[in-house]
This record gives sequence, structure tokens and C-alpha cells, in this order.
Amino acid sequence: MSDERKGISRRGMLGATAGTAALAGAFGGRALMTGGAIGAATLAGTTAATAAEATSVEPGQLDEYYGFWSSGQTGEMRILGIPSMRELMRVPVFNTDSATGWGITNESKKILTEGLTEKTRKFLAANGLEFPRNGDLHHVHMSFTEGRYDGRFLFMNDKANTRVARVRCDVMKCDKIIEIPNAKGIHGLRPQKWPRTNYVFANGEDEVPMVNDGKILDDPSQYVNFYTAINADDMTIAWQVMVSGNLDNTDADYDGKYAFSTSYNSEMGMNLADMTASDMDHVVVFNIAEIEKGIAAGDFVELNGVKVIDGRKGQNKNYTRYIPIPNNPHGCNMAPDRIHLCIAGKLSPTVSVIDVRKIDDVFYKGADPRSVVVAEPELGLGPLHTAFDGQGRAYTTLFLDSQVVVWDIEKAVKGEDPIITKADVHYQPGHNSTAEGETLDASPKFYISMNKFSKDRFLHVGPLKPENEQVFLI
Ligand code: CA
Repeated sequence: MSDERKGISRRGMLGATAGTAALAGAFGGRALMTGGAIGAATLAGTTAATAAEATSVEPGQLDEYYGFWSSGQTGEMRILGIPSMRELMRVPVFNTDSATGWGITNESKKILTEGLTEKTRKFLAANGLEFPRNGDLHHVHMSFTEGRYDGRFLFMNDKANTRVARVRCDVMKCDKIIEIPNAKGIHGLRPQKWPRTNYVFANGEDEVPMVNDGKILDDPSQYVNFYTAINADDMTIAWQVMVSGNLDNTDADYDGKYAFSTSYNSEMGMNLADMTASDMDHVVVFNIAEIEKGIAAGDFVELNGVKVIDGRKGQNKNYTRYIPIPNNPHGCNMAPDRIHLCIAGKLSPTVSVIDVRKIDDVFYKGADPRSVVVAEPELGLGPLHTAFDGQGRAYTTLFLDSQVVVWDIEKAVKGEDPIITKADVHYQPGHNSTAEGETLDASPKFYISMNKFSKDRFLHVGPLKPENEQVFLI
């Protein structure tokens, strides 16, 4: 990590994200109690002993990277040192924390309450509360300037109460929390990468009536989903786009033109059978400049104080396009080659590789939406998320196979067998990270697997097994 790189002092940043409840802290504690036998391994053929040595941080030495973790239902953000995987700090956000006074002091109560809608404020007051008692913190991502982490802010979402929070990186404390109107259940979240993080994009996962006032309870034909752009500098809502199908994960390109969201429920089904009925769901492509033009031209409706553009299927405007993708796509990851967007199939064993340079033709020349998919390799069962090392290789978690598959993007595009290797993890991996892999500084150093189940790996602590993370040398 170069000390002189602009925007970051001294030490690089690793924007790690975990899923619903990645309890990284338990791992650090275990490592200490068992004499440092951490789960280091290697993806490149060196020995486990070499890997353990390379991830050992001796007393008096500091880790090379920060790792920023979500904690799921615990509601806090966690900071780990990489590669030691030691937990350095817990930052309260959507939870109450008596150690720091978060949720108890007037200063923190102001942050927890000032961004709530009037309706929520009244609902909470009627139940004797000032702010929600819980939070489900997902998807911690850092702000960018020209595709690189700039060390200003971290953004994260609360799926339980449809909120987005910001942590200042100079003091590592939460300074803003806002509730997102209209949407229900903010899930995927990503900052704009280029030219800088002017917007934070946030997916509404659950379908809701366009005006969710309790009048429409059982007519799914009137349900929609909302994609939200938040002004990152002042944490206000810039605009929303109404879409067809639900929204799961999101990412943005390295050109500042497009943002993308996976949708597993293009069927708008209200039960499991209906939601998995179609062979193909879709990725929604959002055309940022066209949406901004539409807002400026007044082509919106105002709902709960937010300007909402209609980007549903069949609108025939240049706000959105829908790219068909095999069954229930989940992960949405833009490669640092600036070209390839990797969409993990989840129920399909494939990753769909989209060449973002081809998207212009879909918007402006009527090209077939599927023409942007330049490869769709079969990689294994349950592909969920993809990380990158800046060397053309992709690392995709396979939830059902309990493996990471390392593959070559160019080979996949050429139609050759792209698989380089597969490594077992323990077990059921979801999110994953490489060092600065979501940025133009992606590097082939460490690979981190965030595993949802540990099964028999640790001391028995009851029926609920510890979650765990593994660091690999690349
Ligand atoms: Ca589906």
C-alpha cells in the first residue's frame, strides 16, 4: 500500500461486506483462545503454514488493511484488521450501546431521530419509542473518488427499518441516519464510483403498493419496488425510480453512466413457488443521466416528498432497461477492468458476464438486451457473490458447494473453460472480499470468505452455530 496515494493517509482500506449476520468478532476471540490457529489457507498452492505465517501480525506490528464488516441483526458496524482478522472496534449504528452511550446520549439520539419520516416518528411515539429498537445492518461500502476509496465515509443499510446510515472515517462514528420513504426493506447498497460518490444507490427489496397507506393489502398487481439515489454529501433523497420486479443487490460502473440491480422476483410472486417460477429474471440498468434529465424536465410524481420516476417495464423511456438473467440472480459486482459486470445466478449455476460498453446500444439503438451478456460460464452450485483481484481473475462464492471458484473472465468471454481452481470453505459462503477489490486498486493479496454456517468447526455453543470468516492468501 503506497503511503503517498491521494485521498488516503498511510493505510489502505478494504471495503469488506458481510451478509445478514457475519459475526466476525467471534472468530477473533476464538483465534486468541486457541493459540492463534486461525483458519488461514491459500488459493495458490503454497502451504497452509506459509499462509498462517503471512497472516500473522506480531505484537507491535499493525495490520495492512482495515476491514469494515456488517453485523446483521446486531445493528452495528465492525472494524477488523486484515490479515490478522482481529476485531479492532465495534461502531454502534442502528443499535443501542451502553459502552459508548449510543442511543442514550442526546447527541446520538439526535442522529437516530432526525432522519425519520413524520409517519414513523408518530408510529414510534404511539409505542413509547423515539427510534427503532433494532436494525439489520448490511453492506458496508466506502465512498469513492474516481473509482478509488477516498477515505471520507462508509455507507450501510438497515434492512429491517428501511434506513441508510453514514459513518465518518476520520472519527469512525456514525454521523447520519435517514429513513427511505416509499421503499420497503433497503437491501443492496452501493456508492457511485465515478466521478465520485455523489449518490449512494439503495435497493428496495420488498414489493409495496405505490402509496402504502393500508388501503391496498391483497392486490399484488398494484405493488412496485423503488430504487433510491441518496445525495451522499448531505444524506437527502435525490430521486427514486419505480421498477418492475423486486431489487436485491446493486453496483455502479466506473464511467458514471449506469447503475445495476439484480431482481430475483421478476415474477412479482407472493410465495416461493411463484418467485422461482420463471427460467429468467432480470438485471435492471439505471441510466443516471437520463433519470436526471427526466427529473429536471418534471417527468415525475411526488410521493411522500420524493421525486419518483416511472422506470417500470413497458414505459419505453430511457430511464431503465431490463436484461434477462437466469433464475433468481443475486450478487452484482463490477470488475475493476471497468468492462465486466458479474451477476451471480444463485438458483442457476452460472455467472452472467455483462460487457457494460454494449449497454448504450440497448438504450439508444434498440439492441437486444441479452446482447450485452458476453459470457455465462457454469461455475458450480449456488453462486452468490464475486470478488476481483485486478489481474483478470474472479472469485465467486458457491453457497451450496461450500466452495470458492477462481476463474478467468477473459477465458469465459472467449468461450473457453474459465475455471482456474476451487477451494473448500467452511461452510455456505455468501459475501466475499479481496483487498480493495471493489475499486481500481484491486490487488491479488488476500481473499476473505464470509461463511454463514460453521457446523463442527468450533466449541459447541448450543444449537445456533458460530458464523465464521476465512482469510486466504491468493
Ligand atoms: Ca424468480
